[in-house]
Amino acid sequence: MSGVETPPILRVAVPVPLYGGFDYLDLDAQDPTPIGSRVLVRFGRRRLVGIVIEAGVESELPTSRLRPIETRLDDAPVFDDELLALLRWAARYYHHPVGEALATALPVALRRARTDQTPNRHRGWQAVAATGTNEPAAHAKRQHELLDAIRTGEHAVAHSHLLARFGSIHAPLKALQQRGLIEEVDLPGALEHGSAGHAPTLTDRQREAVEQLARRSTGFHPSLLEGVTGSGKTEVYCRQMAEALAARRQVLFLAPEIGLTPQLIERLRSRFDATIGVLHSQRSDGERADVWRAARAGDADIVIGTRSAVFTPMPRLGLIVVDEEHDGSYKQQDGFRYHARDVALRRAQQRDIPIVLGSATPALESLHNAQHGRFAHLKLAERATGAALPPVRVIDIRSRPLLGGLSDPMLAHIERHLGAGNQVMVFINRRGYAPALSCHDCGWIAPCARCDAPLTLHGGGARLQCHHCGAHEPSPAQCPSCGSKELIALGAGTERVAGALRSRFPDVRLARFDRDSVARKGRLESQLADVASGATQLLVGTQMLAKGHDFARLTCVAVLDVDGGLFSADFRAAEHMAQLVTQVAGRAGRGDLPGEVWLQTRHPEHPLLHRLLTGGYDAFAQAALAERREAALPPFGYLALLRAEAHDLQSPTAFLAQAAATLNTDPQLACLGPVPAPMQRRAGRFRAHLLLHASHRARLHPALDHWQRVLGELPGARRVRWSIDVDPQDLL
Ligand code: ADP
Ligand code: ZN
Ligand code: ZN
Repeated sequence: MSGVETPPILRVAVPVPLYGGFDYLDLDAQDPTPIGSRVLVRFGRRRLVGIVIEAGVESELPTSRLRPIETRLDDAPVFDDELLALLRWAARYYHHPVGEALATALPVALRRARTDQTPNRHRGWQAVAATGTNEPAAHAKRQHELLDAIRTGEHAVAHSHLLARFGSIHAPLKALQQRGLIEEVDLPGALEHGSAGHAPTLTDRQREAVEQLARRSTGFHPSLLEGVTGSGKTEVYCRQMAEALAARRQVLFLAPEIGLTPQLIERLRSRFDATIGVLHSQRSDGERADVWRAARAGDADIVIGTRSAVFTPMPRLGLIVVDEEHDGSYKQQDGFRYHARDVALRRAQQRDIPIVLGSATPALESLHNAQHGRFAHLKLAERATGAALPPVRVIDIRSRPLLGGLSDPMLAHIERHLGAGNQVMVFINRRGYAPALSCHDCGWIAPCARCDAPLTLHGGGARLQCHHCGAHEPSPAQCPSCGSKELIALGAGTERVAGALRSRFPDVRLARFDRDSVARKGRLESQLADVASGATQLLVGTQMLAKGHDFARLTCVAVLDVDGGLFSADFRAAEHMAQLVTQVAGRAGRGDLPGEVWLQTRHPEHPLLHRLLTGGYDAFAQAALAERREAALPPFGYLALLRAEAHDLQSPTAFLAQAAATLNTDPQLACLGPVPAPMQRRAGRFRAHLLLHASHRARLHPALDHWQRVLGELPGARRVRWSIDVDPQDLL
């Protein structure tokens, strides 16, 4: 009896927190389901979307006990062999369940149980040959901005791009359309078409870097491009990208939080006659899925995206650029805790293509790799425009009164620059009005009921909000502990600083940049446009201001609080502080006017801060690396963290003690803890962790493999939520 041949067995990765794949029968022996495609399967009582990761496997279960898959969702694989291999490597390396890792890499729209759809059409706008008579009135500012943006290139501009950039655009677009200046067109997929734009003559330093990269344009060649702020790194990437595009190769460009740096997208769009797909969190699920499909089909020449874009399928991939490679947002901090820069390096190696990591303030790991010859080290020590780097000086605020976080000398500097008609940026890495509310009489501090942390004041002091769990409540009128009505705001956040500056400089236009103030779509863009036009003279904000902005009249940067980074439990805190200070400082004096930077501190003599101020980031990095070597911390040692949390105090530590006991003694591997997390209670859960420390990576991974097999079976495992974090960014 032929024809009833048993279908082959498929191993399917299912998005559940269990390691390994699960076996199912294929539907049809004659027509096998391709590896890398999505299937709908029954898992317990649920139906889940899984990915076929192997076919023709020998199952440990008898065939009679295997269920068939229910439906095939794709005709062609969503992941090609290369990407599947990368993801399986990443799941192993980060010790994360493979099904969850694969699901993380899929666009949200494709995680649903729907068959793969053809791309949607997308709206776009195109300029109509100008007649010169119908231009909008001079006061119709928004119309002019839109028209300029649409006229930038010879191709149509996506509606979504304009929306993200300008916010409310309905009326002005309509007006322009009625004037016959623009017309609506359909864009294929979610791609945009860039236009070949002017390339500046390279500076000597840029040319050296470009030539070095050109010599390494095929094969796996990682390079670290270390260029001071404003040194023209983007132009160097562009030259290498142009070469890859000319060879018909795709380019993957990773950047942190692109939504915050629309200037970058604009620059690439007005530079390359190529199709560009942009992947970031402000795009809809449908748009992201369309860009992803276009990339997979090889239609997108350039893909620009944040962290998760590292998993975009690109069959013609020939170059990867990781801009601001030091940025903490490249590491996912929950679920599948991968580091996009490190995954990108692996991907480049696997594909045998070059990769460029760029930064003004490289991560200590990357500097270490460059110093040991694993990366080529290219340096741009001067600004491309010839502008000088601003001097950075401190204001010792010990025993000085602060007004809204600002000392008198700082206010005097700000006043001097504003008086000269220039722009000033005030940086404080804390949003809200003040970081805590306290009772003047008894010292009570308003706590979060669910976290071991004080609540932050917002709304001018009227509201309390927890930055860890999101809880919020109105501020109390009197102290719940002693009844006193003398409640005071401790310290200052962006809101309070902005308020103090407004009352001190009532005639100066000020804009605040933090997550609260630019939450509304288009708001950030319009605020940035007002800074670029010179209308806004004073900027107050968080690290949002540190990113890539370029304002010609900005001559003074004021940094209000660097001390948090000097005395933190987090071993990377000093590195982050130095990066942030250097990046914000780099916003000053980029145009023709010289700039200066002032830092307020209570610890002007702190050795690392002193190193940074006298020798710059390089000198700081050497000192910080020496400290890391001393303590055998990364990159001189390898870390993994086992975290556990539960609603009661004991379970996490009990579970972690059991986990520690399962390890064999290995003199090369230290297991430290269990210890409570620095913030022990968060969102109502108690947290603790166990730190694994090894002098060689090879020692770390066998222990983690072992844990991966046994942790789920430990008696305490059912009482906790646990997770493994390889190469943790912090120990918090
Ligand atoms: P980075 O990314 O290193 O901070 P950018 O690439 O943003 O620097 O360049 C800083 C400024 O210098 C930009 O305004 C850019 O247009 C300009 N620039 C870059 N390269 C050149 C060049 N070769 N000649 C003139 N201006 C340049
Ligand atoms: Zn009190
Ligand atoms: Zn809380």
